[in-house]
Amino acid sequence: MSERNIPGEYTLPDTLAKTEIRSEQNPFIIAQSQLDETASYLKLDPATHQLLRWPLRELHITMPVKLDNGTTRIFHGFRVQHNDARGPCKGGIRFHPDETIDTVRALAAWMTWKTAVMNLPLGGGKGGVICNPKKMSPGELERLSRAYIRQAGSFVAPEKDVPAPDVYTNPQIMAWMADEYSMLRGYNEFGIITGKPLPLGGSAGRNDATARGGIYCVREAARVKGIGLQGATAAIQGYGNSGSYAHKLAEKMLGMKIVAVSDSKGTVFNPDGFTHEDLMAHKKRTGSVTGFPGTEPLSNEALFELDVTVIFPAALEGAINRNNAPRIKAKIIAELANGPTTPEADIILRNNGCYVIPDLLCNAGGVTVSYFEMVQNSYGYYWEEEEIHHRLEKKMTDAFSQVHRTAGQYGVHNRMAAYIVAVERVAEAMRLRGWV
Ligand code: NAD
Repeated sequence: MSERNIPGEYTLPDTLAKTEIRSEQNPFIIAQSQLDETASYLKLDPATHQLLRWPLRELHITMPVKLDNGTTRIFHGFRVQHNDARGPCKGGIRFHPDETIDTVRALAAWMTWKTAVMNLPLGGGKGGVICNPKKMSPGELERLSRAYIRQAGSFVAPEKDVPAPDVYTNPQIMAWMADEYSMLRGYNEFGIITGKPLPLGGSAGRNDATARGGIYCVREAARVKGIGLQGATAAIQGYGNSGSYAHKLAEKMLGMKIVAVSDSKGTVFNPDGFTHEDLMAHKKRTGSVTGFPGTEPLSNEALFELDVTVIFPAALEGAINRNNAPRIKAKIIAELANGPTTPEADIILRNNGCYVIPDLLCNAGGVTVSYFEMVQNSYGYYWEEEEIHHRLEKKMTDAFSQVHRTAGQYGVHNRMAAYIVAVERVAEAMRLRGWV
C-alpha cells in the first residue's frame, strides 16, 4: 500500500511522502502497511494513524573520523525517534554498510510496537551508521563510536532516547559511547545506553535474555495448545546468540530434544537429538555447526520441513515464505529473528493450525532486560540474575496472554493481535496526552 492509499482525509505533502527507495521491499513501506492494516481493525482516527506512520524526529549526521593510515574519512549516520508517547525511545545502533534511513525508520517503528506489546514504559527509536565494521580496526571503531555520540549526544538522553547494541555493535562499543557521553556531560551517565559490560552498569541476564523470553513464550504456547514439550523435538535456524541460547534453554527449561540446527554454512540433523554442550564445543573448534560428528547434513531449506514440534527461526528475514510454509509440519514457530515470516506465510501457517509466536513478542526478552538495565542504572542498585529471570518471566507471560486473548477476540493471527495490542496502547497514550 502506498502512503496515498491510507484511509481518512489526510494526504501527505510530497516532501514528507518521499522515502528513500520506493519499493515493496523497502522495510519502511512494509512497516507503514502493517500499521495501515492494524489501523483498519482498530478504526483509528486519521490523525492518530497519520502520526504513527512517521517518526516524530530524525537526526542525520556526518562524522569525520581519523583512520589508522592518517587520512580522514567521512561517515554518515542516523538516529530516528519514532514515537515516545509512552516513555523515552529505546532501540539499538547498527553499524552496517547497507544502512539506509528507511531501514532505521522501520526498525524504530517496530521498537515502538515491541516496547508497547511488552507494556514497557518506553517508545521506539533506532540508530545506524553506514560503515563496514569488519574492515575497520578497533581504534577506528572506537573513534567512530565516539564521533557518533559527539554528534548525536544532544539528541539522546536517559529520559529521552536510550540506544543499545544491534547488528555489528557490541558491549565494548556501548562502553565507548557511554564514556564519551559521560565526558561531554562532565559526570558519569552510564544510563545513556544499555547492553553495557557488567562493570559499567550492564545488567545480569542480558546475554541469554532474547532466547529466554522466547522459551517462556513456547512454554505458554504449548500450554494453550495442549502440547507436551518434555522429550518433544525442535529445530533451530541460525546458531548465533539467540539460536545457541535457545538450544541450551529448550533443553534445560523445557526438556526438549534439538534434532536439527543450521548456520550460514549448512544444517546438521540427528533424529535422536544432540546437546548444546557438545555442539558448542564443536562450533568453537571449527567455527561452524557443520560436520558435527553423529549428524547428517541437510539442506538449509529442509530444516523447515522436518516433523518437529517447534521451529526457532533465529537468523534472517523472510526465512518462512509462501514457498515453504505449506510444507511446515511444526506445531509452534517461535520467532527469535526479526521478520522471519512473510505476510503470505502467516496466513498459510494459521490455516494449517501452526501457532506462530510473532517476533514483536517472542524476541522481546532482549529489550525487556535492557529496560531492567535502565531501571537499575537509574537507582544505582543491581539485581541478582534470578531476580532478572523472575521479572522477565512475568513480563513475557503477561504479554503472551494479552496477545493470545486479542487474537481470539478479533479472529486474527497472532502477529496482527500483537500489532493491535501495541498500536492501541500507543494511540491511547497519545490521546491522553492530548496529541490527537
Ligand atoms: P548472530 O549474528 O549472533 O547469529 C546469526 C546466526 O544465523 C549465525 O549463526 C549465522 O551463521 C546464521 N545464519 C546466517 N544466515 C543463515 C542462513 N541462510 N541459514 C541458516 N543460518 C544462517 O545474530 P543474533 O543476535 O542471534 O540475531 C539473530 C536474529 O535474532 C536477528 O534477526 C536479530 O535481529 C534477532 N534478534 C536478536 C536479538 C539479540 O538479543 N541477539 C534480539 C532481538 C532480535
